[in-house]
Amino acid sequence: MAVLEEPIKEALVLKNYINGEWVESKGKYQDVINPATQKVIAKVPMSTRDETIAAIEAAKRAFPEWRLTPPPVRARYLFKLKLMLEENLEEFAKVQTMEHGRIIPESRQAVGRGIECIEVATGTPSLMMGYNLQNISHGVDELLFYDPLGVFCNIAPFNFPFMVPLWFAPFALATGNTFIVKPSRNTPISMAWFTKIIEKIDLPPGVWNIVQGGGAEVSSVLLEHPDVAGVTFVGSTSVGLNTIYKKCGETGKRSIVQTSAKNYIIVMPDANLEETIPLLIPSFFGNTGQRCLSGANLCIVGEDDAFYKKVLNMLVDAVSKITVGYGLDESIGMGPMNSAGGKERVLGYIAKGIEEGAKLVLDGRKPDIIGDYPDTCFLNPTIFENVTPDMAIGREEIFGPLTSVMRAKDLDEAIKMVNSSNYGNGVCIFTSSGKNAREVWVNTKCGNIGVNISIPCPMMWFPFCGMKDSFFGIEHGQAREAIRFFTESRVITQRW
Ligand code: NAD
Repeated sequence: MAVLEEPIKEALVLKNYINGEWVESKGKYQDVINPATQKVIAKVPMSTRDETIAAIEAAKRAFPEWRLTPPPVRARYLFKLKLMLEENLEEFAKVQTMEHGRIIPESRQAVGRGIECIEVATGTPSLMMGYNLQNISHGVDELLFYDPLGVFCNIAPFNFPFMVPLWFAPFALATGNTFIVKPSRNTPISMAWFTKIIEKIDLPPGVWNIVQGGGAEVSSVLLEHPDVAGVTFVGSTSVGLNTIYKKCGETGKRSIVQTSAKNYIIVMPDANLEETIPLLIPSFFGNTGQRCLSGANLCIVGEDDAFYKKVLNMLVDAVSKITVGYGLDESIGMGPMNSAGGKERVLGYIAKGIEEGAKLVLDGRKPDIIGDYPDTCFLNPTIFENVTPDMAIGREEIFGPLTSVMRAKDLDEAIKMVNSSNYGNGVCIFTSSGKNAREVWVNTKCGNIGVNISIPCPMMWFPFCGMKDSFFGIEHGQAREAIRFFTESRVITQRW
């Protein structure tokens, strides 16, 4: 099938969007590379401290009026935004494939999920209602309402450049806060593209801002500045815990910190394999394994060797059919890794797995690429068996197309394996027994649980959970919990 037309024809020079205007940065610029073609598709600035402060000040100035804008009026901006994004969904999806590498159906899905967050946030006038009680004491009434706090920001990861900022921003804006997004330097285009639509809905200047930048430079200003009320972060546990959560604690900012993962998928002997195996493919290899709810460890339960071999053979057979190439070619099943560094990381884990004594069943090191593309970021799927939870490939987040197959004699042992992980983002079980399913959600310490579902990503009407080293904070992103995070409860006790 032909490659879809690329919406980015020549390298874009990205600007910041501050106080309702596009502003050129004085910082150094880095290349943004299409991981499939290796062409430079944009130049992204590493914005300066002063530019970040300018965004914070603009957002601070916009807050008083935005806070007092009636919630239904704020929601109407989002209705407009949602419609315009839907009209442009295909273009957004293509941009995402160009900067991230994921295949076009996955990009469409990710953009659709971002738009769904806006849809949920349009309900904010109802969702942020407080409560009251008449005559709490003689002649005294008491009422609670939720008040926005000021300037919030999102420090985003590379892997969902459109969806992740929208886990937070629509809820922050709809509740009356102002917002700054700092995208990942690897995938900064989606949010710049999004801001072109924001411009068209005529939000008051300063309500929405974007500051492009690298790791610590922009983020450290956001973390330290007294006029930033709270920080939302999605990324690695090392940055999330050691820098973001720590700094927010020190500076008294509220934070949502969603971090790394190592998710188990448990397959029970009573699972319907014809239905299960096709669902495992997008879980382990969708987004080239670069998803925080990707399957990482496949735990096949039971002492029956024939069942174990059947699952493994069916999996290897299905995975061997995955085609690898440029994600804008609709016939492709898996795109490249987002970066050469990401590919190196996976190659390092394959070497480690061999060293640790796991058995390489499918070796993805030499990519078989459809089309004439440099192999810089490409890998084929890899499967190891005989993996144990203490091996690096069974324990650490690899974030690539690598499946570690494990065995457990029974469900209790599988649950122990799941709980031995430092991470607690997601776990899935495939079974035809309600009792088995219940054992998993009662006894594992994971925030997102799938039963006969292989990617346990909550729909946007529910919070995106996570436990242990996969999440730091109290309220989660999305839905009612996001409304709570972005507002302060205030109580009035009154007698007239
Ligand atoms: P990362 O931690 O390298 O970067 C995330 C963001 O933090 C980027 O914007 C980056 O510029 C910034 N950053 C990097 N170093 C920093 C520092 N020292 N101080 C302040 N900011 C800094 O993560 P990544 O590689 O972009 O994303 C992949 C990770 O994100 C994986 O671990 C994945 O599991 C995780 N993730 C988690 C979820 C979730 O909901 N739990 C969702 C998506 C991705």
